[in-house]
Amino acid sequence: MGKVTGFKEYNRETEPYRDPALRIIDFKELYTEHNESRLQTQGARCMDCGVPFCQSNNGCPVYNLIPEWNDLVYNGRWQDALERLHTTNNFPEFTGRVCPAPCEGACVLGITSPAVTIKNIECAIIDRGFEEGWVTPKVAGDSTGKTIAIIGSGPCGLAAAEQLNTAGHKITVYERADRLGGLLMYGIPNMKLEKDVVERRVQLMRDAGVEFIVNANVGKDIDPAALVAENDAVLLATGATLARDLPIPGRDAKGVHLAMEFLTANTKSLLDSGLEDDNYISAKGKNVIVIGGGDTGTDCIGTSLRHGCKSLVNFELLPKPPAERADNNPWPLWPRIYRVDYGHAEAEEKFGDDPRVYSIMSKKFIQDDKGNLTGIVTVNVDDQLKEIPDSEKTWEADLIMLSMGFLQPEHYINDALSMDVDGRGNFKATKQDYRTSVPKVYAASDCRRGQDLVVRAINEGREAAREIDRDLMGSTQLP
Ligand SMILES: Cc1cc2nc3c(=O)[nH]c(=O)nc-3n(C[C@H](O)[C@H](O)[C@H](O)COP(=O)(O)OP(=O)(O)OC[C@H]3O[C@@H](n4cnc5c(N)ncnc54)[C@H](O)[C@@H]3O)c2cc1C
Ligand code: SF4
Repeated sequence: MGKVTGFKEYNRETEPYRDPALRIIDFKELYTEHNESRLQTQGARCMDCGVPFCQSNNGCPVYNLIPEWNDLVYNGRWQDALERLHTTNNFPEFTGRVCPAPCEGACVLGITSPAVTIKNIECAIIDRGFEEGWVTPKVAGDSTGKTIAIIGSGPCGLAAAEQLNTAGHKITVYERADRLGGLLMYGIPNMKLEKDVVERRVQLMRDAGVEFIVNANVGKDIDPAALVAENDAVLLATGATLARDLPIPGRDAKGVHLAMEFLTANTKSLLDSGLEDDNYISAKGKNVIVIGGGDTGTDCIGTSLRHGCKSLVNFELLPKPPAERADNNPWPLWPRIYRVDYGHAEAEEKFGDDPRVYSIMSKKFIQDDKGNLTGIVTVNVDDQLKEIPDSEKTWEADLIMLSMGFLQPEHYINDALSMDVDGRGNFKATKQDYRTSVPKVYAASDCRRGQDLVVRAINEGREAAREIDRDLMGSTQLP
């Protein structure tokens, strides 16, 4: 274990983000340089518990061997820590940056003191690995002669591709976008995850023999049935891309956009031209309202601030969460508490206030005679979402982003294959075998369970790879 008395001697100290006033003038990552001695001290706080809940079901979804690498980092054995980390997580440079860290919510130290800074340590191990040249392509296994098509290059498709490639199968990943990475590329913005971090990993996979085809929309440009016929297996990892809309009066006003229209166009323009091509929805000089929270809402806030918006408000339908865990939300469950994410801190720095307004329901968008958005009418609601009389309010707005979650995958692939969906419209497959109702076709991650987290996408990609390998070969060595 770290240091036997470390948890009593040292306090939790996270790695700071860059100064909000400075970081909102660029799209570079939020993070500061890793501080080795601070991270070793944090590793020393790990108690190496008899039952490490951090790596259990309530904790890390890829079952990272957290106490092992905490100890290795404390003892300065960074390369060994990297080796342990890579045994469970294909892409720690993604999770080390964007994971909300359920492991820390389940850390046993967290019962009495603030948890070990597990996510910071994970990120530092992999970043050090790349700096030192320790991260190399995962060598492909001896060829089995089997071919597998993976549709979608998000974290699930990438994890499955890497695993199946090491098992010796020939892997081709089809991606309809012009760049690889799924929401790692065109969802999560640069300030949380710079895109060369994604491209660096994809290149390692190419070097290991995985083939990638971009601008390949399966179901539109490519016949899914032909892919099934030509391959030994097909894995659907297409994500849950159908967003929840807000069909209230005035929805057609010019200036109301789904969050992903805003975020995707911004990242593409940034990568294509450094925002010089004007091919994005600009928030510059505008009164911006973001409806809905979560990571997507925060990313809309952060992006609007970087454009130079005039004002910013974030509507939340639900009441403000408690500062501490409620009685019905005990350890080791994910703590449902009030948090200040990077975008909230930046808005407060720029405008003096947290942008969030709670218990508010949108009733009507207002537009001028040319159809341009000018505002929105809201009412306040109680904890049961019942409208409070005489609480109507009109807000000025030129740009509104809808960030109210995602419903299900798009349905053209399953329609073409006559494949079953479940009651929520997701591709029907169980977490035990990932098989769909169509022989040889598997489905995993957001398209199977609804939109979730990068780390769960990696987990399902790994598990689906194992089940596909087992079905093709009769047994499997994949974890
Ligand atoms: C704005 C935003 C921010 C987020 N922030 C975080 C965060 O900070 N932390 C976190 O853990 N999670 C975050 N998430 C959630 C996380 O990104 C997803 O849960 C995760 O990416 C799902 O991975 P996936 O591989 O299943 O699908 P995706 O990442 O959605 O990838 C699916 C890919 O399939 C492609 N595709 C779809 N249909 C076809 C087709 N017919 N043919 C070819 N290709 C196709 C898509 O273009 C896409 O590239 C965020 C999500 C959003 C929208
Ligand atoms: S992947 Fe997420 S849950 Fe797992 S150790 Fe890293 S931060 Fe924690």
